[in-house]
Amino acid sequence: MKPKIWLSSPHMSGNEQSYIKEAFDTNWVAPLGPNVNGFEKDLQKFLNEDIHVGALASGTSALHLCLIMLGVTHGDEVICQSKTFSASANPIVYQGATPVFVDSERDTWNICPEQLEIAIKDRINKGKKPKAIIAVHLYGMPYKVNEVRKVATTYNIPIIEDSAESLGSHYHGQKCGTFGDLSILSFNGNKIITTSGGGAIVTKTEEQKKEAIFLATQARDDAPHYQHSHIGYNYRMSNIVAGIGRGQMTIVSSHVKNRRSNHALYKEAFKSIDGISFLTEPEGYFSNRWLSCILLDSKDTREGLRLALEKENIESRPLWKPMHQQPVFSASPSYLNGVSDDLFERGLCLPSGSNLTDSELDRVISAINLYFAL
Ligand SMILES: *Cc1c(COP(=O)(O)O)cnc(C)c1O
Repeated sequence: MKPKIWLSSPHMSGNEQSYIKEAFDTNWVAPLGPNVNGFEKDLQKFLNEDIHVGALASGTSALHLCLIMLGVTHGDEVICQSKTFSASANPIVYQGATPVFVDSERDTWNICPEQLEIAIKDRINKGKKPKAIIAVHLYGMPYKVNEVRKVATTYNIPIIEDSAESLGSHYHGQKCGTFGDLSILSFNGNKIITTSGGGAIVTKTEEQKKEAIFLATQARDDAPHYQHSHIGYNYRMSNIVAGIGRGQMTIVSSHVKNRRSNHALYKEAFKSIDGISFLTEPEGYFSNRWLSCILLDSKDTREGLRLALEKENIESRPLWKPMHQQPVFSASPSYLNGVSDDLFERGLCLPSGSNLTDSELDRVISAINLYFAL
């Protein structure tokens, strides 16, 4: 059996262990410390905007805190892009609220501004104005930031920007992760940078960051004893994990460069195959190409290709199955136009790691060429 080629595997810089060693040497083995503060500063500097970053245990916990901070509670409704990973939607249910799913548009595969407005109007007519909108930059491609913001402003609904897959992407020169009323990042094992597991909340003000960290550290009131007037969470990032993050931030730009070059290589390699198409960047959009995705002409071709790659020990995966198709969310309202269903049927994510070697990329390309030659 040939060695496995993964979809998206961790890629260390070599600098991580020195930050971890420092944490051990100084006994900062706790969910706070110099690496946590340093990692937050590194991220803040990278995002390059007047924002504040709180390092947390995961992207999912960051989303949960966003909802709590926006006052989402039992019986509320929250709009969520249907085409996404389940972690975008699950925290809505943690709060006892109902997700309302909105379909995608073709240009970015992200939340469709027209469907979004239809959904908001209909929910208001039915008696409940949605409390928030969760928009996602899927696979690193920015969503239609201006159009979505326009709808949100019209109805005065805050945006939670799920930037879990889009560190290093930008939209008209502004970095993804800075567009939401609140935003989140993820550093899970398969993301652009990883801390093994981890995430962050991005806020507009220092007060909001303080509130997030207060909630993430068990909501302890200012008192010598343990005093609580809020429900708290154990969502802070560990200082060890943050050390990995600091090492990763030294090479984040080269990770983006490598992932973009994988995408460009695939695009060039398959340009003469009619049955393969790619999502192109609209003017002003810059995707980190977290995952390189292709569209095939049918579900059968997609599944045939996936199995052919699997035989070669190459991991690939259909695009995210939309949340409105997930059994667990079958009771949730959804506003659909067919786009995310179609993308799910015909789309495939190819190996996309920033650490893929030339010979691994050759193996992927040869296997796909062979499949289309047969
Ligand atoms: C990975 C991911 C998350 C969750 O982040 P974790 O750090 O794994 O909790 C949320 N949303 C999207 C779109 C993701 O891809």
